[in-house]
Amino acid sequence: MQVPAPFDYARAESVEDALALLHTHGPESRVIAGGHSLLPMMKLRLARPEWLIDINDLFELDYIVEDAGVIRVGALTRHATLLNSATIAQRFPIVVDAEKVIADPVVRNRGTIGGSLCQADPAEDLSTVCEVLRAEVVIRGLDGERVVSMAELHRGPYETAVAQDELLTEVRFALTPRTGSAYEKVERRVGDWAVAAAGASVTLDETGAIADVAIGLTSVGLDGRTATRAEDVLRGERPSEEAFAAAAALAAEDCDPVADQRGPIDYKRHLAAELTKRVLRRAVERVR
Ligand SMILES: Cc1cc2nc3c(=O)[nH]c(=O)nc-3n(C[C@H](O)[C@H](O)[C@H](O)COP(=O)(O)OP(=O)(O)OC[C@H]3O[C@@H](n4cnc5c(N)ncnc54)[C@H](O)[C@@H]3O)c2cc1C
Repeated sequence: MQVPAPFDYARAESVEDALALLHTHGPESRVIAGGHSLLPMMKLRLARPEWLIDINDLFELDYIVEDAGVIRVGALTRHATLLNSATIAQRFPIVVDAEKVIADPVVRNRGTIGGSLCQADPAEDLSTVCEVLRAEVVIRGLDGERVVSMAELHRGPYETAVAQDELLTEVRFALTPRTGSAYEKVERRVGDWAVAAAGASVTLDETGAIADVAIGLTSVGLDGRTATRAEDVLRGERPSEEAFAAAAALAAEDCDPVADQRGPIDYKRHLAAELTKRVLRRAVERVR
């Protein structure tokens, strides 16, 4: 049986209280939200926090609201809430596509969007989704808050711009007219992490041509970035199978998968191309 090293525990009563507790208990204190990434790491002794600051009572961080052209999602919003939100399904179907294939109901009932983004695991599906939607996140500390892009948030695998004594409090998605989005993942079995996955968001202009596009890939070494060459060849083009194939080939060329128990490099590159084509096709269908 795997058990974590001993730790102390405090249950925060408000965001200010959580920030004060992190400050008081210092560098060896760590926030716990759903615990579905942190607890496995503690059991494997990959993380050994001396204090866990539990934020599960902070209902003020659990919300989805539409506000002046922006959907604001609280950091403590669970996967299951995102999956079942009518607002999210209508505005950003890519989130629902991804949530359907994240783990299983037990994990989705506890895991949070804030925990997913702060874990910064290269296989995390919501990270790709947030990159594709060009989300911004709000980071709060005792001295105030700042808003950063996904590119600024993710500094590398398991590393973010959120300091030890700060909290990620909100994720913001801007609404853009005539935009569709989609996500598709290949997994070895239901509930598993991705062998590879792709996400796309496409905005069409009044004539039906592609005004803007973002393409992201999961688990194939494109972490923290979108497939910029693939995006560039699509901008200004009319959506077509030929255009999608050209973009997909570039996305597959620009990713950098590694061979592991989930598959060899050429298989993962093949998936990157095929999934890119599929999500572009579906994103455009959804605009129409
Ligand atoms: C069996 C299993 C299968 C899974 N499969 C998938 C999958 O297919 N796809 C996928 O994307 N994910 C998967 N996950 C991960 C799951 O989505 C987790 O819920 C998620 O990674 C972390 O969210 P959490 O709320 O549990 O975070 P926690 O485990 O509580 O925290 C993770 C990290 O984020 C920090 N943190 C949490 N919240 C905040 C905050 N608000 N501010 C600052 N720091 C914070 C913590 O200190 C910790 O370092 C799986 C997990 C399990 C156990």
